[in-house]
Amino acid sequence: MIETADMSFEDRMVTPQVIEEDREAEVTLRPQTLVEYIGQDKVKENMAIYIEAAKRRGDPLDHVLLYGPPGLGKTTLSAIIAHEMGVNLRVTTGPAIEKAGDLAAILTNLQPNDVLFIDEIHRLNRQVEEILYPALEDHAIDIIMGKGPSARSLRLDLNPFTLVGATTRAGQLSSPLRDRFGMILRLELYTTEQLTDIVRRSAMLLKIPCSIDGATEIASRARGTPRIANRLLKRVRDFADVIGNGEITQEIAKVALDRLEIDALGLDSNDRRMLEMIIKGYGGGPVGLETLASALGEEAVTLEDVCEPFLMQLGFLSRTPRGRCATKLAYEHMGYPMPQTQSPTNNDIDGQMYF
Ligand code: ADP
Repeated sequence: MIETADMSFEDRMVTPQVIEEDREAEVTLRPQTLVEYIGQDKVKENMAIYIEAAKRRGDPLDHVLLYGPPGLGKTTLSAIIAHEMGVNLRVTTGPAIEKAGDLAAILTNLQPNDVLFIDEIHRLNRQVEEILYPALEDHAIDIIMGKGPSARSLRLDLNPFTLVGATTRAGQLSSPLRDRFGMILRLELYTTEQLTDIVRRSAMLLKIPCSIDGATEIASRARGTPRIANRLLKRVRDFADVIGNGEITQEIAKVALDRLEIDALGLDSNDRRMLEMIIKGYGGGPVGLETLASALGEEAVTLEDVCEPFLMQLGFLSRTPRGRCATKLAYEHMGYPMPQTQSPTNNDIDGQMYF
């Protein structure tokens, strides 16, 4: 029998999506400059050059598409771009812009060279997206006045601006939209060392005493994601206050994270449930994503966006043309013997995306 989780994906401690308790601290903890932004070195280096060049010319920065799993710093980076360019930031999301008129109102209110950040840009509807094309290319929008044969098209000029689009799934963007971005940048999961620096920085800002070992313990269980690292820091602080003297040490961090059922590698009960389902329910795979999702009672996109990037980074999961497979490392971590006939090994992981 496979255990059913008592915690849904939405309220799990290690979800990379924003949960209510993150909101206040996220404002305090957001780095404001590229120098403060830890990790993502390639993205940062390129961005610094593009920003400097645009500033020297007095032009807006070229449109940027940021993609990667949630919680890696896409919103933060867009705010940094606006800050470094010395312009305003306007933040919205794809699903919030319901009508073409909503987007027209946002665009006509932008000041010269402002940054417009659209999160989940793959969820813009088609009519809204079509308004965006001339806005991105010619800094203008076409408004249709009236109906039927007497309808006229009116072209409205806009101030030049920079669109920063963010998405967890670049593949779902229509190609006309994707082609209008001058820069397409992929954010990577963070290493434990980078997350340790992030935890230490956050602890300092929140005035939480935290040893280097304590920060490393939290970082190593934060599944490569700064948002999770910051959330775990706050939860471990509660334990430090109650069972210790307020300082986060490695020992306290270990006790706290074990109690939160986050294991040494950052897997929680949902990740383990998914691996266990593949191993015990489907002989290690291959098993199709949809089949797996319905066996677990979860949405396929949740598994794909939340569990898979991290399990693949750990080398626990491989995606093959025939479905998902648990690797030898996953068997070892879960404490099951690997069957002799099991074909996928860790050598099968090629980083390819199969759907
Ligand atoms: P996303 O938009 O990709 O979901 P956010 O930009 O909202 O992610 O980042 C979540 C939180 O993680 C932010 O509040 C910020 O404190 C922290 N964070 C993200 N990236 C970094 C980084 N590179 N350095 C320091 N903190 C970061």
